Amino acid sequence: MTVPTIELHDGNSIPQLGFGVFKIDADKTEELVTEALKVGYRHIDTAAIYGNEEGVGRAIAKSGIPREELFITTKLWNDRQTDAAAALDESLAKLGLDYVDLYLIHWPCPEKDTYVEAWKQLIELKKAGKVKSIGVSNFQLEHLDKLETQTDETPVINQVELHPYLQRWRELDAFRSHKVQIEAWGPLGQGKTNLFELPEITEPAEKYGVSPAQVIIRWHLQNGIIVFPKSENPKRIAQNFDVFGFKLDESEMAAITDLDLGEEGRGGPHPNEMND
Ligand code: NAD
Repeated sequence: MTVPTIELHDGNSIPQLGFGVFKIDADKTEELVTEALKVGYRHIDTAAIYGNEEGVGRAIAKSGIPREELFITTKLWNDRQTDAAAALDESLAKLGLDYVDLYLIHWPCPEKDTYVEAWKQLIELKKAGKVKSIGVSNFQLEHLDKLETQTDETPVINQVELHPYLQRWRELDAFRSHKVQIEAWGPLGQGKTNLFELPEITEPAEKYGVSPAQVIIRWHLQNGIIVFPKSENPKRIAQNFDVFGFKLDESEMAAITDLDLGEEGRGGPHPNEMND
């Protein structure tokens, strides 16, 4: 199974499908990431705040997979925006790596007003070779504008909440017009919604002999979105990777796009309201 890659504007590329480890307990992470690597995932999405970078690192070390075949993302937590160099060193030590492929500012925290300062530090960390690509998460267009007017580097990626109930295509396409690729967090609605029961999802699932989760992952992939569903169940970890043997047709894609609820569909905090 070959996972497609997406080209980033800095010349690097990222596997479009990965494995996310949010809320996976530190002591289960090594085992589950090992499972994901066995299934074939080569892209892992973690963050300092998840408290499980050490488990990700142990699974990587144990796997014997050459470092250059892996794509590892971690994120700068909100209380370290003025201290990014030390924060990245701590993440690298926990991961047992000398560089990460992608380092993201986790939230803009606009009330703190330090994300431009954080971004300037990420630019230096990239120059120092400690991170191959730099990006942001949960950024709104006004935050991107500020980075672009106050520095000469545009993020390669914005990682945002994105699933059939929260789509924001106009805004996301504006990011893409600035060459910022979009990553979906909570791509399956974090298992907290009724998405898996809707006919727009279950009918194509039956037709193609796949699960509702696979249909939603496929919808993201066909929209050109980078996605890393999380599961703690080995069968589902394998299932979520097995999404290249079928293709949704135009009307099936459109029916899922019609499920958008706008702001009402948001499951997590609004980026402007997260300031801690
Ligand atoms: P998700 O949408 O991937 O949902 C995960 C849940 O969906 C699982 O816990 C399970 O309940 C269900 N599920 C998964 N596979 C399934 C299957 N095959 N069949 C049935 N149910 C299934 O939610 P997430 O973990 O929050 O998001 C994915 C990743 O995004 C995270 O692990 C993390 O890496 C990242 N993330 C980033 C941010 C951010 O602020 N940048 C926030 C949240 C998550």
